[in-house]
Amino acid sequence: MIHEVIIVGSGPSGVASALGFAENGIVPFVLDVGHEAPDVTPPDMNFYDYRKINDAFEIMIGKDYEVINHLIDKKTSSPKVSSPYMQFVTRDAERISPVNESASVLQSFAKGGLASAWGSALYRCVDEDLIDIPVKASELSPYYDRLTREIGISGDDDDLTPFFGPTDGLLKPIKLSRKSSKLFSAYQKHKNKLNSEGVFIGRSRLGLLTENHDDRSACDYHSLEMWYPGLPYIYTPEYTLKKLIKDNKVEYKSSIVVKNWSRENGCIVVHAQDIRDDSAVEFRCNKLVLAAGTINSTKIVLNSKKDFETTLPLKDNSLVQFPLIFPSFIGSKLEKDALSLTNLNVIFDLTEPDMRLQGSLIELSSPARSVFYEKLPLAARDNLAFIRLFLPALAVLFLYLPSRKENEGRLKLGDDNKLEISNPHGKIDNSILKKVAGAFVKMGALTHPLFVEPPEHAIHYGGTLPMVTVPDSEYHCSTEGELYGEPGVHVVDGSILSFIPAKNLSFTLMANAMRIADVISKKDMKIE
Ligand SMILES: Cc1cc2nc3c(=O)[nH]c(=O)nc-3n(C[C@H](O)[C@H](O)[C@H](O)COP(=O)(O)OP(=O)(O)OC[C@H]3O[C@@H](n4cnc5c(N)ncnc54)[C@H](O)[C@@H]3O)c2cc1C
Repeated sequence: MIHEVIIVGSGPSGVASALGFAENGIVPFVLDVGHEAPDVTPPDMNFYDYRKINDAFEIMIGKDYEVINHLIDKKTSSPKVSSPYMQFVTRDAERISPVNESASVLQSFAKGGLASAWGSALYRCVDEDLIDIPVKASELSPYYDRLTREIGISGDDDDLTPFFGPTDGLLKPIKLSRKSSKLFSAYQKHKNKLNSEGVFIGRSRLGLLTENHDDRSACDYHSLEMWYPGLPYIYTPEYTLKKLIKDNKVEYKSSIVVKNWSRENGCIVVHAQDIRDDSAVEFRCNKLVLAAGTINSTKIVLNSKKDFETTLPLKDNSLVQFPLIFPSFIGSKLEKDALSLTNLNVIFDLTEPDMRLQGSLIELSSPARSVFYEKLPLAARDNLAFIRLFLPALAVLFLYLPSRKENEGRLKLGDDNKLEISNPHGKIDNSILKKVAGAFVKMGALTHPLFVEPPEHAIHYGGTLPMVTVPDSEYHCSTEGELYGEPGVHVVDGSILSFIPAKNLSFTLMANAMRIADVISKKDMKIE
């Protein structure tokens, strides 16, 4: 059997492209490793109340002490991906796609990809974000609109609209935490001065329901975000995938690791391994769409070309974490129903240096206290007392930096099929840290550049197979994501973005993947 379209991967990029094909009447065949979330039902009450009357050991530590193992291995600094019920998101990554030890990357082989653990911060890009990317925000706009309706995105029309784009179709914004409300009021008070310094604050845009949508229920502020997969109010690509499968608009096969492709009698032969019994399997198609996440799509490309020599650029937008202390909350009661995701966003539109940075103000009521414990220098008991006193007064600003040439990583495939990645952590000027800290101090939140740890990776990988207007190298893609010299092979994930702006990028990955599916359906597949 020859499939019209095979898509590799069920993360945001794969599912958005599947939606694009489905809406053109084409039934794509999705191949995926597709590890499933554990079958656990979230309690119908606030997690803090639940813990008072139930043993939460399995949820917070894991029945096999999974969290402790993660702490020892230090596989990721993301507490969410380390939490026991969320570990399926990165399960088996080292076995399925080994990478050199010194690399610091996160790969997912889950149904829904890394987005099964995401913070669902979903922003449109405006033209200023799409530097060196030969697609305009206006070309993405219809797909952002369609996906906004599909996902259910909450947000508002405010000072961030010029940076986040049109507000069409947004659900009402989330309930702000007490600290975020305080900060937002302080911003309104000092707005003119802050705006003149390039500082703008507004409501976040989250794939989080503030009202019932499709058959999913609105957020109940039960502080479960860190601990449970599949919460109905947080969108993950799995929701769309399930709907498409149910409506026979997508065929889906899991437990498949795609290795490479070859060509035979005019069609593309996809070579893969079935991980249930390690057998080799093959699938045939006219179009192959790679949406396996930047690292794995690039690996499939290099492997298909048997290229164990070329080193490709690997980009990411690093982030620094600013702890923010709100003094009037020290010693107060912890706000147990605050949303532990981004409450507010801050844009620093700087002129000196000429750079646009985006911050996400995140509440810390949901993570375990142990996350903060290791960062404190006191004796064990004093650390705990300190956390009890200060946690209600603490929030964190994730400050994203744009990808820069000097911070670029490298990716190569070894002839043992192991990836060799070097992705050094970026650097940030102290002058920027001072400006950011200064703005928060003006708004009554205490912080200081000395509190800030060196930049980490933001996990928005890209840049390996850039989309360019006139491709002229075997690792360039056209604006339709088609790999140069490989008719019918399209890449639709972060690999094709040659610049990663200072913002969470997945909504743009989705809109671009859907755009490409739509364009090639209409152009090459003669759909009216
Ligand atoms: C903790 C956390 C929080 C995040 N929060 C946000 C956020 O708030 N906003 C945001 O924009 N982004 C966020 N991200 C990043 C976001 O999750 C990624 O940008 C996004 O998931 C990338 O989508 P993708 O579809 O390109 O790849 P992935 O999500 O990596 O999905 C890859 C898919 O391909 C499949 N696959 C891989 N290799 C193969 C193969 N060889 N054969 C078959 N199948 C394969 C996998 O099973 C998976 O389904 C977050 C990430 C993490 C880890």
